[in-house]
Amino acid sequence: MHSLSPDAPHRLWLEAFDALSRQLESGQRPPVKDLLMPLMLQVASSPYLKANAVGFWDQGPARLWLPRFLFQPSPPAKPRFTLGLFAGIHGDEPAGILGLMDFVRELDHHPDFGLDFQLALYPLCNPSGYLAKTRESASGRDLNREFWRHSPEPEIALLEQEILRHKFDGIIALHSDDTCNGFYGFARDRLISEQMLTPALAAAGRLLPCDPSPLIDGFHAVNSIIHSAYDGILSASPTQRPQPFEVILESPQNAPLSLQRQAFVSALRAILQSYRSFMAYSADL
Ligand SMILES: [Zn+2]
Repeated sequence: MHSLSPDAPHRLWLEAFDALSRQLESGQRPPVKDLLMPLMLQVASSPYLKANAVGFWDQGPARLWLPRFLFQPSPPAKPRFTLGLFAGIHGDEPAGILGLMDFVRELDHHPDFGLDFQLALYPLCNPSGYLAKTRESASGRDLNREFWRHSPEPEIALLEQEILRHKFDGIIALHSDDTCNGFYGFARDRLISEQMLTPALAAAGRLLPCDPSPLIDGFHAVNSIIHSAYDGILSASPTQRPQPFEVILESPQNAPLSLQRQAFVSALRAILQSYRSFMAYSADL
């Protein structure tokens, strides 16, 4: 009898992921089902990862959908920290999509690491922009300026509904910037956001330099961290209490895609570690 070796699923995943990375690096945009193939392969072999659709809408003759992946290491015996991880809200920034895929694959191999967390992953927040290789969606709007302002964009309505429903403890968005001199991040409002971002940048900085400039993307920056942000960016509902920590990671888009992706994985790993320590410390106070 013929049986698959235990590492066969991993080999399949690696092949699909390598092929996808090469296509994206060379500027191709494989169809959404091919883009999501590594994640779907992982769902097929993982007891912890589930896939579904947040919703569908029609864009001309095309039917688009917003994919969601839920990662939960085992049935929750105690309350978990829920994090929302978002990528691809700008359609021309594929590094974050690969970063999320690689990160959740790593979690799957080391489920203890994700034990205290329930993660909701949204790897493709702007499918029409991804397919057209544009920052904006097919409507011509920058979706990352549309949140919590009664936007008519279907992606925004679906994402806002998810954010309201999950009431995340933390929101992390992955972006890439072609004008910066290295990795950097936005830490919105709360001190805890900066406490999550600082170790994340240190981890990413081992793979790619962090941007040392005092002015990044038009904002005042200290140690590669920006505290202000544009209005309408992906964030928690303004009425959510308590407010979550909110971090935006920005990779330097002109660096090799594989390095941007690895830097995202390291940064995300650091955030989970910091958050767990932070909550353990708070519980002891
Ligand atoms: Zn972006």
